[in-house]
Amino acid sequence: MASIITRIDRSSRVRLLWERLQDLVFPRPCVFCHLPRKGGGPCLCGPCRDSLHWIERPFCGRCGIPAEIDYDLPQNNFECARCRTQPPVFDRARSVGLYESALKELIAFYKYRKQTGALKEIRSLLECYFLAADEAYDGLTVVPVPLHVSKLRERQFDQACLLAREVARLLTLRCDPGLLKRIRPTPTQTRMTRSERIENVRGAFAVQKPEAVQGSAFLIVDDVMTTGATLNEVARVLKRAGAARVEALTLARAA
Ligand SMILES: [Zn+2]
Ligand SMILES: [Zn+2]
Repeated sequence: MASIITRIDRSSRVRLLWERLQDLVFPRPCVFCHLPRKGGGPCLCGPCRDSLHWIERPFCGRCGIPAEIDYDLPQNNFECARCRTQPPVFDRARSVGLYESALKELIAFYKYRKQTGALKEIRSLLECYFLAADEAYDGLTVVPVPLHVSKLRERQFDQACLLAREVARLLTLRCDPGLLKRIRPTPTQTRMTRSERIENVRGAFAVQKPEAVQGSAFLIVDDVMTTGATLNEVARVLKRAGAARVEALTLARAA
């Protein structure tokens, strides 16, 4: 597993270099509006980047969903109705922005077209987010939501792993991509309902190094949070193995 990740990491670096060279000679248009990039970042133009819907307070202190109220609340004092009636297993979840328009396209560009150059744009979005979010992440070990090995071989690209490494680098936290394993492949969840998603991921993950989990605190990283079923299942596995605290961070969140 580790050697596959190293190999993928190396090929990602080569691809990144190639993309940079191409960009110098033929600057690529914005991935969202397809117009020539003026200002902005490596993939999105200035106006598209400015149009991103960042998730800002007020939001649910537990799951991070934006609150549908138009007045501000004391920090982390608000819990949404779902978290009050069905508390999630994770202690806290946060997302950079809403999974729509330019951010949705950027993630698709990054994930499905294996454009690691998009990681540079993502890194800069994360940087802005951490500066503005003002939340503590001290002492957490970063763990990506693992891909099943069959999917990793097929894709040769582990988007959550690369993302987790960026998050760990920016927050100067330890990253442990080999801590968890996806023990069975799961069908894609795009068209599934909440309950189907819960069923789909049940028993899909296992802890590889139980000794590293007991009493520790974790930050699970993934690209998108939809219903939270996957993050919740990963949190369940970590807590069952003795994790003291489990938090989650995704780049985007479906509202
Ligand atoms: Zn644009
Ligand atoms: Zn909530």
